[in-house]
Amino acid sequence: MFGLMQDHPLNISSLLIHVEKYHGDTEIVSKCLDSSIHRTNWKTIASRARQVANGLNRWDLASGTRIATLAWNSYRHLELFYGISCSGRVLHTINPRLHPDQISWMANHAEDVIFYFDITFYSTVQKMYDTTPHIRHYIALCTEEELMQLDDIANYPKLLAYETWINAQSSQLEWPVLDENSASSLCYTSGTTGNPKGVLYNHRSTILHAFTAALPDAIGLSATDTVLPVVPMFHVNAWGIPYAAAMVGAKLVFHGQFSDSQSLYHLLESEKVTVAGAVPTVWMSLLSYLQTQNLKFSTLNRTIIGGSACPPVMIQTFLEKFGVSVLHAWGMTEMSPIGTVAGLRNNHRNLSNDEIVKIRTKQGRVVFGVDIKIIDDDGNLLPSDGKSSGHVLVKGPWIIQNYFKSTENILDDGWFDTGDIACMDEEGYLIITDRSKDVIKSGGEWISSIDIENLALSHPEVAMAACIAYKDPKWDERPCLIVVPKPSTQPSSQSIKDHFVDKVAKWQIPDFIVFKDALPLGATGKILKTQLRKEVLTENGLIKPDLLEGQL
Ligand code: ADP
Repeated sequence: MFGLMQDHPLNISSLLIHVEKYHGDTEIVSKCLDSSIHRTNWKTIASRARQVANGLNRWDLASGTRIATLAWNSYRHLELFYGISCSGRVLHTINPRLHPDQISWMANHAEDVIFYFDITFYSTVQKMYDTTPHIRHYIALCTEEELMQLDDIANYPKLLAYETWINAQSSQLEWPVLDENSASSLCYTSGTTGNPKGVLYNHRSTILHAFTAALPDAIGLSATDTVLPVVPMFHVNAWGIPYAAAMVGAKLVFHGQFSDSQSLYHLLESEKVTVAGAVPTVWMSLLSYLQTQNLKFSTLNRTIIGGSACPPVMIQTFLEKFGVSVLHAWGMTEMSPIGTVAGLRNNHRNLSNDEIVKIRTKQGRVVFGVDIKIIDDDGNLLPSDGKSSGHVLVKGPWIIQNYFKSTENILDDGWFDTGDIACMDEEGYLIITDRSKDVIKSGGEWISSIDIENLALSHPEVAMAACIAYKDPKWDERPCLIVVPKPSTQPSSQSIKDHFVDKVAKWQIPDFIVFKDALPLGATGKILKTQLRKEVLTENGLIKPDLLEGQL
């Protein structure tokens, strides 16, 4: 017997219809390329999203057609998010920090037909123009006058100005009712091993994920919030924030291309932001800026931090110096991305700050909708005892089933192997030890590079730290710590090693400390260990001798 409730497929357009009708006047604020502030609201975003859809309809693009964006976080990008997906096409967000050849590879692999771009990326468009035959139009996110000011446009006849194009479209449109399993957006993984792989989300997964993202123990979004997703819209759809914000009617603030600490701080303050989300490296710089300038946050009360492990010292500084709660979250592109968030439990209500920091340093409790199991190398289920580490497998309605255009079966009895190594404690908190390719295997024991990095970051003179394995004839692998000292400090390798004594087992203390002025960051702001290994290790996996002055 079926229930007798109405059958409405979960479509992304429902978010837009809701937010326009009930929160239409809530602001969307963007910092433009010329640093000016642009203000609009959800009503206008919804109206312009319909214009986008009408423009695409006029070109008669079939549903499922891939439409690319190479753009900063902005109101125009938001219009495209909704206009493209709600009209039945697939939004393909591309990371502009990739090499033009990689971008061109992705656009060809996805068979993108229309390509929207911020004019800062015009040189990329020029480079890829002749190698992307599927693309019919390159639409610059600017006015006609701004387009005219670009160099050499006569040689690129497929160029159009967004404002001219959108203004020629009607804002009248009934959103089509789509099968909720229809593809809505496409995001490629970073491709640190081999070519990038496409993760194809659908309307259903996006809506269900938005519900979860908004829940109190996840980002806890409400109509009273002002949200600044520093995480780029090309990084797993800004972690789903543009959808969750529409679901609850929150105000959104976009920082455009300005991610330096001073600009971010100014925007957080001037727009009275209550919640922001970014990878740890962004917060690292922002916190150090605040501390050197002796500044405070006046409205920010929580930050969602994920993408890589958030060091406890950051969680503690946010909490004790700035009164800001850190919501440490774990997930990945293949998981839309949220899998766990480190919220507290009922029995944690009277804990001290130190105890809270310990809990929030874990990657968190699994959210409803996702299931996790941890298994050993032979596939045996490991107990939730806080110490048995193994491979993390996940399943759920917003977890990948297969990569775009791939026929390879990537699931193991319905479970997706995340490639992460973790344990789960008795209270159900996931604790990520490492990515399987980053874990250091020393004499048959595993050393967590995340643990070593977190400890190193609590040394008063360490600004950034990354731990990698080098080859050792006796132990197979041993840890080497690469450190960027804080400005005007010169920590010695001994003082850093001493810092580990009594905090970890002796054999886990890094043998060598390599000092560097900066660490290579990947396209999404994470430390790029593949690149770091090339910088620090020889082809045989040994530490380059010239980096070890005085330590051999
Ligand atoms: P990539 O880093 O390859 O671009 P993702 O952004 O999808 O791709 O990254 C997902 C990976 O980032 C996870 O598999 C995990 O290794 C790491 N990660 C994400 N969040 C955390 C976290 N809170 N703590 C530790 N690692 C994390």
